[in-house]
Amino acid sequence: MKTIGLLGGMSWESTASYYKEINEGVKAILGGLHSAKICLYSVDFAEIEKLQHEGRWDETARILSQAAQSIESGGADFILICTNTMHKVADNIQSSISIPVIHIADATAEILVTDGIKRVGLLGTKFTMEQDFYKNRVSEKYGIEVIVPNQNDRNIVHDIIYNELCLGKITDQSREKYLDIVSELHSQGAEAVILGCTEIALLIQQQHTEIRLYDTTQIHAAQAVKSATS
Ligand code: GLU
Repeated sequence: MKTIGLLGGMSWESTASYYKEINEGVKAILGGLHSAKICLYSVDFAEIEKLQHEGRWDETARILSQAAQSIESGGADFILICTNTMHKVADNIQSSISIPVIHIADATAEILVTDGIKRVGLLGTKFTMEQDFYKNRVSEKYGIEVIVPNQNDRNIVHDIIYNELCLGKITDQSREKYLDIVSELHSQGAEAVILGCTEIALLIQQQHTEIRLYDTTQIHAAQAVKSATS
């Protein structure tokens, strides 16, 4: 079995989901007392969040590249960056190490292609919904049209991520807001919606809606299990 590198802490609420999903996945395949070999580096999210909102992405890239180098030294065979947003600096991180980064948008888009999805809604931080690094990768590399909520709804989605989900606060009120936004995307022609922030599945799950949801945390973790065990 290969060793999975996790670059986590963004936030730790979702890194905990990765840890659980990956161990459950390995147990499902190998059985008994088997568990995943994981090398986890968990950053202080307050530092990263401040730099994000100040637009100091080069500094985030420096911190995360150093963390990735530590993970590589720790014996990982490949790395997962456990956040959609910080894939903005995935190329910088990849160029600082010699083991591969498994890109969360690639893992997700490959499943969308397999499922025949041609137009998809995207929920995430404003960085993920508004900038090109994520949407363009899905549309240009995989030919899937990506639509995002209007500006007011993007603000709602973003604020709930940072002020609630990353702090472990889950409320029915915010779930209703998210489900309304999912329905709106569907009415605009989205055949499915990407939960493009690793905390969103803590709030909404498939059981809450008939509209197909693609949980990036679960997909990314499953890809890691597959890569580690095959
Ligand atoms: N975990 C979130 C994501 O997947 C947001 C936190 C962050 O900014 O990294 O984008």
